[in-house]
Amino acid sequence: MGIKVCKFGGTSMADGNIILTAAKIVNADPDRKYVVVSAPGKRFGGDIKVTDLLYACYDEYESGDFSAFENTFQKIVARFEHIEKEIGKDLGMRAELENAKREILDGAGKDYCASRGEYFAAKIMAATLGLPFVDATELIRFKENGQLDEASFALAGRVLKKYPRAVVPGFYGLGADGKVKTFSRGGGDISGSIVARAVMAELYENWTDVSGFYACDPRIISSPKCIVELSYQELRELSYMGANVLHSESIFPVRSAGIPIRIANTFRPDDAGTYIVKTARRRTEDDVVTGIAGKKDFTVISLEKSMMNAEVGFVGKVLSVIERHGISFEHLPSGIDTMSLIIDNAYLKNGILQVLISEMQKAVNPDKIYLHENIALVATVGHGMANNIGTSARLFTALARANINVIMIDQGSSELNIIVGVDNKDCDECIRAIYREFF
Ligand code: ASP
Repeated sequence: MGIKVCKFGGTSMADGNIILTAAKIVNADPDRKYVVVSAPGKRFGGDIKVTDLLYACYDEYESGDFSAFENTFQKIVARFEHIEKEIGKDLGMRAELENAKREILDGAGKDYCASRGEYFAAKIMAATLGLPFVDATELIRFKENGQLDEASFALAGRVLKKYPRAVVPGFYGLGADGKVKTFSRGGGDISGSIVARAVMAELYENWTDVSGFYACDPRIISSPKCIVELSYQELRELSYMGANVLHSESIFPVRSAGIPIRIANTFRPDDAGTYIVKTARRRTEDDVVTGIAGKKDFTVISLEKSMMNAEVGFVGKVLSVIERHGISFEHLPSGIDTMSLIIDNAYLKNGILQVLISEMQKAVNPDKIYLHENIALVATVGHGMANNIGTSARLFTALARANINVIMIDQGSSELNIIVGVDNKDCDECIRAIYREFF
């Protein structure tokens, strides 16, 4: 059989006992050759992830509060020492962590500090399984612009050829400046995907604390349907829009090689989980929608100008304003004399919104600019919607029945998704109304 790459998330690495369970899962299948791990996550509600402690430590170091730094650092040491005790191995964690602390105090940088959770978790997993540890800096490289260097696939492939089995820390690699660099939060999923691609795995197993990908957030609808199989594209749409089982960028390395991903539950290893594949199986007539996800806190900037349709370059000039500020937009619905930009509020803090408006005013002299602040985007996703007459009618009737005002509508031409903009306060009810209609 082919090679399987297993990635264990933070809750699967949270304490010694669950690490032993994860190791048992690896050992249960001889095809599970490469293991990628996250830093220890939360053990219970209110607990703090090791990565969050490391970021807190770094902030304390930067602000010069060394006693707070030491205090937080000792909490991390205590967590790793506790894990060491639970798995019954003496790995000299305290001394290793003290070395890492010296590196941090010598200016190794924020990403180095944040990455140590994964680094030590992988050392522990390697010792538990009796497998070699291969550092992610040997495998994963970033370009100068901070993006993943795709040459990493070949590099990791060459290095891992020397190791028939190995454990690799997730979440980081080597930056173009020769220093440790991390992905964005939750990026261990991307590391697992890179390793799967590098060794041309038959399957990338992502072990987490849920039994698969749900049709919507279980905090909004209790016990939603678990999706058996979804396509890479559906996954990308849903995870980008807030379904946070898997990092939205983790499909890119495996997608072109057609390597399927399986989401599985470390706490219920016999559950089937969800498979993410190139082409999801054909859907039945009542299997129109695959999933629904929502994300809050966007702003709509709408511009109105008579004869906008005839003014060549209008949209280009508006977009060059946001480009100058390094801002990307989510959607750009337009009419004959109107266009709207939907932008994540995170970009618009500290007066930037007002600056954009005045620059747009100057750039295109619109008749009117108006704002809709604090809107949520809700995406209804599914290949089954294509050519299925009446899907949008059902969706909008459900929203009308639930008394939800739709501020914006965007449907991709692939008919893979219908996105509606609603007031933040209506977001959860909007998801519930759509779920009730289609499931
Ligand atoms: N430990 C990192 C985080 O908490 C990365 C990961 O878990 O994938 O974001």
